[in-house]
Amino acid sequence: NSVLGIVGGGQLGRMSAMAAARLGFRSHILAQHEDEPGLQVSHGATIGSFNDPAVLKRFAEAVDVITFEFENVSANGLDLMSDLRPVRPSGNILRISQDREQEKTFLGSIGIPVAPWKIVTDEQSLAEAAETVGYPFILKTTRMGYDGKGQFRVHNAEQLNEALTTLSPKPLVAEGMVDFAMEISVMVVRGVDGTIRTFPATENRHVSGILDISLAPARISEEMAAEAGRIACRIAEGLDLIGILGVEMFVGRKGELLVNEIAPRPHNSGHWTMDACPCDQFEMHVRAVTGLPLPEPVRHSDAVMKNLVGPDDMALWPEIVGTQRLIPHLYGKREARPGRKMGHVNVLFPYGSMPGEFGVQAALGPLAGSTE
Ligand code: ATP
Ligand code: MG
Ligand code: MG
Repeated sequence: NSVLGIVGGGQLGRMSAMAAARLGFRSHILAQHEDEPGLQVSHGATIGSFNDPAVLKRFAEAVDVITFEFENVSANGLDLMSDLRPVRPSGNILRISQDREQEKTFLGSIGIPVAPWKIVTDEQSLAEAAETVGYPFILKTTRMGYDGKGQFRVHNAEQLNEALTTLSPKPLVAEGMVDFAMEISVMVVRGVDGTIRTFPATENRHVSGILDISLAPARISEEMAAEAGRIACRIAEGLDLIGILGVEMFVGRKGELLVNEIAPRPHNSGHWTMDACPCDQFEMHVRAVTGLPLPEPVRHSDAVMKNLVGPDDMALWPEIVGTQRLIPHLYGKREARPGRKMGHVNVLFPYGSMPGEFGVQAALGPLAGSTE
C-alpha cells in the first residue's frame, strides 16, 4: 500500500489522486495552500512553500514515489527530492518544458518542427526577431505562462515597443504566428521499462487563450494522426520520460505538423479519456510512475470535452447537472473567478460516430453556443 506523492494540489493533482485511489495507492499532496482542490481527495498533505528545502524533505520522506501536476514548481526542488525518492518525470524534463527557449532548442535538436522563433531581450533583438520571423508574430514570456497569459500579438512595427514593455521578465521569445487549420494534442505515456503508449490525437479549440473544447478523435486523416503519435513518441524517448506528457501541435494549412509546446503531466485536452477510455490519462500516468503495466490506450467511444470556466459557465450548473448526457467533473473550487477552470463535462458518442458541428453543439445542451 505505497504512497504516491503529488507536488501541487490543483485539479490535475486531484484527478491523479482519485486514479491512484482506484489502483490501491494512497496519495499525499504537497500544496501551498489549505484550500487546493486536490486536498479534498488525498490521504495526506504537506502544506508549505515549494522553495523551502525543509518542506520538500518532509514531503519526500512521507511518500514512496513523487510526481508533479504543477509546472511552475522549481526543477531544482525536484532534483533535491530525487536524492530521497524517485521523481517521475525527472526534474530535467520539467526544466526543459518550463522554459520555452530550452523547449524549442530541445525539439529542434531531435528534429521536431516548430514555428520560427527568436529570443528577445531588448529593443534591438526585438527588431531583429521581427525581421527574422516576420509579421504577425507572438511575443511570449519564456517562463510561467499558461492559458495564453504572458503573450502579446504583434501585427506591425508600431506595436513593438508596447509589446516589449508589457511583457516581463525578459528574455522573451518571438514566435511566428502559425495560420493553423486546427490545433491538436497527443498524450504520450512511457513506463519505467520503456513501454510507450499514445492516446488518439485530440482536436482542441481555445477561446480567449483558454482551452474551450476538445474533440476526440481529432477530425484528421489516419496518416496525420499516426504522424502526430510518432512525433509524441520521439519527444518522450528523447526526454527519457517516465509518466505522461501532453504534446500540443498546430496542423498547418498544407497539412504539416508543428509542435507548439509540451507539458510533462496530465493535460486538460486529455480529460475526455476519463469517460471514453477504460484506462484514462490519470490512471495511465499513475501506472507509469508507480511501475505498473500500461494497458493499450483504447477508447470505446468518441467524446467531446467542454471546460467550465468562471462564473458564467458555473451559473449554468443546475441545467448542466440536470442534463443526462453531460458527464460532470467539478474540481471543488469555491470561488468562480473569471477565467478560472472550475470543472469540465464530457459527452460520449458511439465509437466512430462523432457528429458534425451542429450535432456537437446540440449535444452540449445548456453549454451550446458558448463555443467559437
Ligand atoms: P497553455 O494553457 O496551453 O499552457 P500557454 O499560455 O502556455 O497555454 P500557448 O499554448 O503557447 O500558451 O498558446 C496559447 C494558444 O495561443 C495556443 O493554443 C494557440 O491557440 C495560440 N498560439 C500560441 N502560439 C501560437 C503561434 N505561434 N501561432 C498561432 N497561434 C498560437
Ligand atoms: Mg503552456
Ligand atoms: Mg498551450
